[in-house]
Amino acid sequence: MDVLFQNATVLTLCDDRPVLKGGYVGIAGGKIAFVGIAAPQEPAARTIDCRGKFLLPGLVNAHAHTAMCLMRGYADDYTLQDWLYQKIFPVEARLDERAILAGARLGFAEMLRTGTTSASDMYFREPAVAALALECGMRVSLSNAVLAFNEAAYDPETDRAIQETRALIRDFHGAGNGRIRADAAIHAEYTSYPAVWRYVTELALTHGLCLQVHVSETRKEHETCIARRGVTPTRALYDAGVFQAKVLAAHGVWLTDEDMDIFAETGASVAHCPVSNLKLGSGIARTAEMKRRGVNVALGTDGCCSNNTHDLFEEVKLAALLQKGVSGDPTSVNAYEALKMATVGGAKAQGRENEIGRVAEGFDADLILIDADSPLLRPVYDPVSTAVYSATGRDVCLTMVQGRILYENGQFTTIDVEQAMHEVEAYAVPIVLGAQS
Ligand SMILES: [Zn+2]
Repeated sequence: MDVLFQNATVLTLCDDRPVLKGGYVGIAGGKIAFVGIAAPQEPAARTIDCRGKFLLPGLVNAHAHTAMCLMRGYADDYTLQDWLYQKIFPVEARLDERAILAGARLGFAEMLRTGTTSASDMYFREPAVAALALECGMRVSLSNAVLAFNEAAYDPETDRAIQETRALIRDFHGAGNGRIRADAAIHAEYTSYPAVWRYVTELALTHGLCLQVHVSETRKEHETCIARRGVTPTRALYDAGVFQAKVLAAHGVWLTDEDMDIFAETGASVAHCPVSNLKLGSGIARTAEMKRRGVNVALGTDGCCSNNTHDLFEEVKLAALLQKGVSGDPTSVNAYEALKMATVGGAKAQGRENEIGRVAEGFDADLILIDADSPLLRPVYDPVSTAVYSATGRDVCLTMVQGRILYENGQFTTIDVEQAMHEVEAYAVPIVLGAQS
């Protein structure tokens, strides 16, 4: 055995025994080889004593634009229209591959530091980001979303998003023992056409990829689609066959009951992004109703320019609080259900439900430790409640992906964080500010 965690309060996220006190979790060959309340027979190369700590599955960020870390705090308190067209799009037109890699590296460091081990990413230059993720040890599902405003002029053979997706499939899909995956992606209903959706869906079906898409983020988007096409964005995508692929839809703030039924029937997932939706004034997704209708709900941060952090613990807490506040029913989404969205739900959304999201034998060893031996978290009556309502990503003291420790007690093992911050500030920030071209 490579590593043995002992005396841990284990939040397994397995419904038959969600919490294991004084637990032992053994890691071998990148997988969880042992879970129990007595020490295993086999000795371990390294034993980590976890008294006062919680061991839980690494969190899954099901919707991120990781490299937007470059724009943390760059455009706050704007209307969505001004934010996107006057601030974000002009910067994105200036970003080169080096700047995107700088942002992605800092973003991965932040995720690992705050307990996220797997991310679904939608951005540009994704083959280079895949190589970076391989190097950093991070688990990622990467996509470059198709945008096609001019249907007559659109040619998938010359579309950079399609070319990058094909490069991802060819060079990185399944790399790192399955850590790196290529996803197909349609940016959104309002930024392309049914012929494009069918092409991307075919690509996903041919290669067995998940399909990421933004759906019904804002009321305007939702209602404009109904005015233009006579149906909701979900229904329009469904009618074009998009839901034949395994869909992971970000936001879903304005989904109708019928839209939710399409998600439930097709096994599609919603990446609920509460912080981003609040910050851009988009609204509050009806996740309690989604749950009631059998929709898989995961959590995402969205880009760091509409959040402004990759600390998924914020989303977990808000996922529980918002539904209580909106419904007036404090039992509508409880702490355990919110934590499940960030683990089991995220794993399912990524098509990795048999791989990650639980502390169970045979699963990949993507694990985090929360240091609960702290005046900020004591006393502990219910560790799930402490993890959801009191802990933040800053309480994470160890992060492991596939059995490899990537962060421990202030030290990163695969990322030179000083260098990463310097590269962002010296190289990329001037580009963001328009000082270079
Ligand atoms: Zn997004």
